[in-house]
Amino acid sequence: MKFISTRGGECVTGAQAIAQGIAKDGGLFVPEVFPQVSEQELEEMLGMNYAERAAAVLHKYLDEYDYDGLKEACAKAYAQFEGGDAAPLVKIDAGLYMLELFHGPTCAFKDMALTLLPYLLRKGCDLCGIKEEVLILVATSGDTGKAAMEGFKNADGIKIMVFYPNDGVSKMQKLQMATQEGNNVDVVAVRSNFDVCQSAVKAIFTSEACKEELKSKGFILSSANSINFGRLAPQIAYYFSAYLDLVSSGQIDMGSPVNFAVPTGNFGNILAAYYAKRMGLPVGKLICASNKNNILTDFIRTGVYDKRREFYKTMSPSMDILISSNLERLLFELADRNAVRVQMRMDKLAKEGIYNLYDEELEQLQQLMWADFCGEDETVETIYEFFEEYQYPMDTHTACAMYAAGNYIAQHEKDGAPMVIVSTASPYKFPQDVMYAITGNDIKDSFKAIKHLNIATAMKVPASLSKLRDKSVRFTTVADKDKLYAEVLKFVDKK
Ligand SMILES: *Cc1c(COP(=O)(O)O)cnc(C)c1O
Repeated sequence: MKFISTRGGECVTGAQAIAQGIAKDGGLFVPEVFPQVSEQELEEMLGMNYAERAAAVLHKYLDEYDYDGLKEACAKAYAQFEGGDAAPLVKIDAGLYMLELFHGPTCAFKDMALTLLPYLLRKGCDLCGIKEEVLILVATSGDTGKAAMEGFKNADGIKIMVFYPNDGVSKMQKLQMATQEGNNVDVVAVRSNFDVCQSAVKAIFTSEACKEELKSKGFILSSANSINFGRLAPQIAYYFSAYLDLVSSGQIDMGSPVNFAVPTGNFGNILAAYYAKRMGLPVGKLICASNKNNILTDFIRTGVYDKRREFYKTMSPSMDILISSNLERLLFELADRNAVRVQMRMDKLAKEGIYNLYDEELEQLQQLMWADFCGEDETVETIYEFFEEYQYPMDTHTACAMYAAGNYIAQHEKDGAPMVIVSTASPYKFPQDVMYAITGNDIKDSFKAIKHLNIATAMKVPASLSKLRDKSVRFTTVADKDKLYAEVLKFVDKK
């Protein structure tokens, strides 16, 4: 299977697409064609466990990776999840389900891909004949950095270094990163905000001098961010798995449609659902849920993408985003794979902050998706009401999806398809907000909030969070923004 750039420039193998991350023309890699999964193959997947299903889906795209290797890597990655099933589907009510994607090492759905990415990346480099050690640099506003380090810790042939804004992450997130284990990780707090962190890391990525110097020391740079196809591919698998679980438990017949509601930020998660649909999975409507930053809601309702608007910090921070980079992959499909049109729109977005779809593209998009957004008060109310009715605690991101799904169902009585809410984080990851929503108690300390939430909901506390309190701090470096490359050199020179 070959991969092409959304901006027309390149044609590479899957291994190259993953090793490289982004195309040289600035576009994103997409499969040349969507591999198909027949109903017979779906039937065969019914009897598989999650890791086997994931390997089967991945091998459709990454056919130069050997299948046994993929199976083994998936088994190892998903064995790290608590509870035996990496992506359990929980029945809430008739026709309403939660797909829980938060049982991994950092209690958020990014673990679904980041536990597997080290294998996909190292193997991809090996397949491309890259002999150097891989150095991953991540600028993070909190969640991605931790999930990436958990995924990459102690991985052979890879080192990972994370930069975060010293005053820009929550106490819990800081503690999660400062206590990170692994012999190949480093963490640096930067005396600045996230945007500055990100620009400083980008500057290293685009500097030929830095790249040369690192190469002479035996390293090549790579990134673990969500536009890498190696992040997208593992996410396609859980849509298949949820569907198969519905069939095997007798909730639906094979072939009947299922709707999914997805809390959306960078558009990676919901895009994976779209890819599953294009592969032949009977996906009905995709509900694209945003928080107060509702740029995607406006886009899907009107066809106009306009980032010239205020940015809000919300209690669902992983969805606080104005430029959803993975949307480019869907644009490419809506434009009938016209790379020139994609390039034109991305230029327009960069220069003017706005672009719009043609009428027939908008019509196609609205066939596929329905969008809504959930404000801060609605987030709190949704968590409260849902807990009252079902005794099921939801995190703040998942609540946005539930809210949007509720509105969709109320306005589309004729659509009788079951609704799966994609649950992206454990409520214990945002314990103060969830505790406040459920009980009205405003608790300042994270660990106290976890304890009280546990008493209020009787939901089990994930071991990785409860253990955090007793872990020793390993990383205390704080650096100025112009000293990041010096920190990189210190890290790679340390033997
Ligand atoms: C990253 C994240 C999202 C957004 O996912 P995208 O793939 O960026 O759309 C939603 N919820 C949580 C908890 C996340 O960490």
